[in-house]
Amino acid sequence: MADWKCQKCGYTLKNEKPPEACPSCKEKCEFADVSCYTPDCGNTGTDNRL
Ligand SMILES: [Zn+2]
Repeated sequence: MADWKCQKCGYTLKNEKPPEACPSCKEKCEFADVSCYTPDCGNTGTDNRL
């Protein structure tokens, strides 16, 4: 599982792959993988720097 964030509206969701269309925008948006891979992200599961 990865965390995906819509670059347009900031909507985040957990999924294995980014969705075809953003459930919030109802459009095909760019999704960034914001999963936490580093220990310095605060262990929240999401990197707030993204
Ligand atoms: Zn969106």
